[in-house]
Amino acid sequence: MNLAERLRAAAGRLGGRTALTLDRERLGYRELELRSARTGALLRRRGIRPGDRVAVMLPNVPEFAVVYYGILRIGAVVVPLDPLLKRREIAAYLGDCGARLVIAWHAYAEAVEAGTDGTDYLFVVPGEFGRLLRGVPPEDDVAGTSGDDTAVILYSAGTTGPTKGIELTHANLGGNAATVARMHGLGVDDVVLGALPLYHAFGQTCALNATIHAGGRLTLLERFDAGRALEVIRRDGVTVFHGVPAMFIALLDHPAVSDMSILRSCVSGGAALPLDVLRAFEERGCPIIEGYGLSETSPLAASNRSGAGRRPGSIGRPIHGVEMRVVGDDGRELPRGAIGELVVRGPNVMKGYWNDPEATAHAIRDGWLHTGDLGRADDDGVFYLVDRRRDVIIRGGYTVYPREVEEVLYEHPAVRQAAVVGVPHPEVGEEITAVVSLRGPATADELRAFVRERVAAYKYPRRIRFLDELPVGPTGKILKRALTAPAPSVR
Ligand code: AMP
Repeated sequence: MNLAERLRAAAGRLGGRTALTLDRERLGYRELELRSARTGALLRRRGIRPGDRVAVMLPNVPEFAVVYYGILRIGAVVVPLDPLLKRREIAAYLGDCGARLVIAWHAYAEAVEAGTDGTDYLFVVPGEFGRLLRGVPPEDDVAGTSGDDTAVILYSAGTTGPTKGIELTHANLGGNAATVARMHGLGVDDVVLGALPLYHAFGQTCALNATIHAGGRLTLLERFDAGRALEVIRRDGVTVFHGVPAMFIALLDHPAVSDMSILRSCVSGGAALPLDVLRAFEERGCPIIEGYGLSETSPLAASNRSGAGRRPGSIGRPIHGVEMRVVGDDGRELPRGAIGELVVRGPNVMKGYWNDPEATAHAIRDGWLHTGDLGRADDDGVFYLVDRRRDVIIRGGYTVYPREVEEVLYEHPAVRQAAVVGVPHPEVGEEITAVVSLRGPATADELRAFVRERVAAYKYPRRIRFLDELPVGPTGKILKRALTAPAPSVR
């Protein structure tokens, strides 16, 4: 089913009920569907046909949803772009996907104009865009799609490796959103916080598409800010919040944080959730459910379940209809408990990398997506993520999983954020280096000793660097690549 068809079905059921809010702006289901139908017609007038790529560079504003469903409605493909991209990156992505049109927020006009290089563009100016649409009769039909039709191409801002266009189909995204909605019991009375960027798979599926599928209300934050998030949670009576660990950490650190039991369900994904953060949030009245996935899996692949099914520190079990295994270098399944690469098979696995059959064949072998993540399964079939294959540090022949060392650092009361990386070293190959931001006083010697007391001697960080803030990507993932260059501030 076309994702836009799901919106149409919800609008038929829910009429004027609120679909989206941003501060004082409010968009009901019927109005959202009408505006997206007008957007579809507008695009047709500009010559967009089924299968054409339309790039979208919008923050978390209601227009994102209007434009997203409008493009899908006529069978065209959405290419969401990170609003922070600079002209060179914009030019590269537009060139790669052969976009016919860019629809961008007015505030990004300079970068977009410089980066479009002949591609047609349309700027969204609040108010004016609504007027423009009112002059266009809506496109009545929703284009029929087969399960294999591409809905979205996501340029993955992964922390390593070259960026590629991930092709996700209507079936990939719609199926994953429906599973998320079911797993969390999302319904018409839920208010979901739209704090994750909608151009990323996590926000698109778990915030936007799952909420629309369930007929709930999505309250948007234009961009994440802990103080603002706390205000909106209270003001709108938010019941469900999907976030990355950095968001939960920022909320806990905020002076206005208090009881969070208003939230019925909190979901963390995208990066490992430190156990300390999980506990601290729980003490405020809201358990966090940890899930796991990649943009390539639409994105959810595995998740803890609420209640007794939850195993803190694990990523739970594969979601409904999805299989997950741990395999060795030869691709064979490893016995329970052994550490190997996680592979995923199921209806959520991408169609492939755009225009890159070689990379696709490397990633998907015999139907299994190779995630590049290392993990293990316990006797009950619960999966644990050990680390990213590329992030593993080999020091003097010993393999060190940075996450284990990071977990210990997070236990120190003065540590706010921690990332452990390998920095090239002439004798040991890679030296274990911790990059830390502090919330209280601590010296490098103290932190070294703290870790050394708790893990095998070969694992503790010989070097500690302090930064005020660790560099994070658009979804709050710490950008380890930016940390591996030897820095002068080593103490
Ligand atoms: P992306 O494609 O940007 O969504 O990034 C996917 C990557 O995020 C995965 O390959 C994992 O390395 C990481 N990731 C996702 N969920 C988790 C989790 N719960 N714990 C640790 N890492 C995670």
